[in-house]
Amino acid sequence: MVQEAVRPKFRGSQPLKSKVVPRYPESAEREFQRVARAYLKLLRDSLKDHLPAIMAAYKKERHGDSRFDDAQDLNREVREEMQKVAEELEQKIAAFGLYEFVEKVGKMTQRASLREWKRVVRETLGIDLMDDYYKGDFYAEALRRWVDENVLKIKSIPAETLGNMQQLILDGFVHGMPMREIQKAIQKEYGTTKSKAVLLARDQVSTLNAQISRQQQQDAGCSKYRWSDSRDGRVRDCHRSLNGKIFSWDNPPEMWYITKKSGKVMTGRRCHPGEDHCCRCVAIPVFDIDTLDIPMKSDK
Ligand SMILES: [Zn+2]
Repeated sequence: MVQEAVRPKFRGSQPLKSKVVPRYPESAEREFQRVARAYLKLLRDSLKDHLPAIMAAYKKERHGDSRFDDAQDLNREVREEMQKVAEELEQKIAAFGLYEFVEKVGKMTQRASLREWKRVVRETLGIDLMDDYYKGDFYAEALRRWVDENVLKIKSIPAETLGNMQQLILDGFVHGMPMREIQKAIQKEYGTTKSKAVLLARDQVSTLNAQISRQQQQDAGCSKYRWSDSRDGRVRDCHRSLNGKIFSWDNPPEMWYITKKSGKVMTGRRCHPGEDHCCRCVAIPVFDIDTLDIPMKSDK
């Protein structure tokens, strides 16, 4: 039935490339980054109230006489104060509802992928997808796994960072580091962690989008796609070189990068669009009328 409905579209162009480029789920990515920042801010907020006391203890002990006893005392004072931070942080984390936020982002990504897929099918084949088809088991399972994995990855970041900060303070004391240097090091630790969390958020949205898109296209009988980069200044050389080329879902291209020293370096990793680290490329489906299998809306 679907073959008959779409046959005119394939006249003179078989296989048939999608008439539109699926859009990358920007708003889901932004939302996940917002969540990551807000979650990390719990650490900053908990730390803010206690950092003056920690620094005061540090200052006091730096001006003492016996270094060894000072170190013991400082250790104790810093540990006590850090313990308070950790407890406060734990409460804030429990009240944050990380799982619900991550799940919301996952659903946003899924909805965006489906919306784009419907648009591609409508614009290219002139048919509408059956509404509830993509609520199948695969998609529910993929989403659940993605949410679990991401909650696991993000959950412990603030507590780990706090542990690193405590170590920075104690090491700083042992090495006689000036107080403002320690404060700088703490700030740097926070900044690094935050950037990592924001990058993780981007990477994970593109990974989920890639996974869903691939399944949608393969389910529809598309064995090939056309690589499309995000057409902005951030596209890496490798992905720009793949832009516009056709690949098979069975045989993704190998990734490479350029270094000043060795030139082009092959990584051995093979990726579809969106699977490489923080990749915002998308796969434009290529339809084949002989293998096409799409559940159409029957009332049309
Ligand atoms: Zn890319």
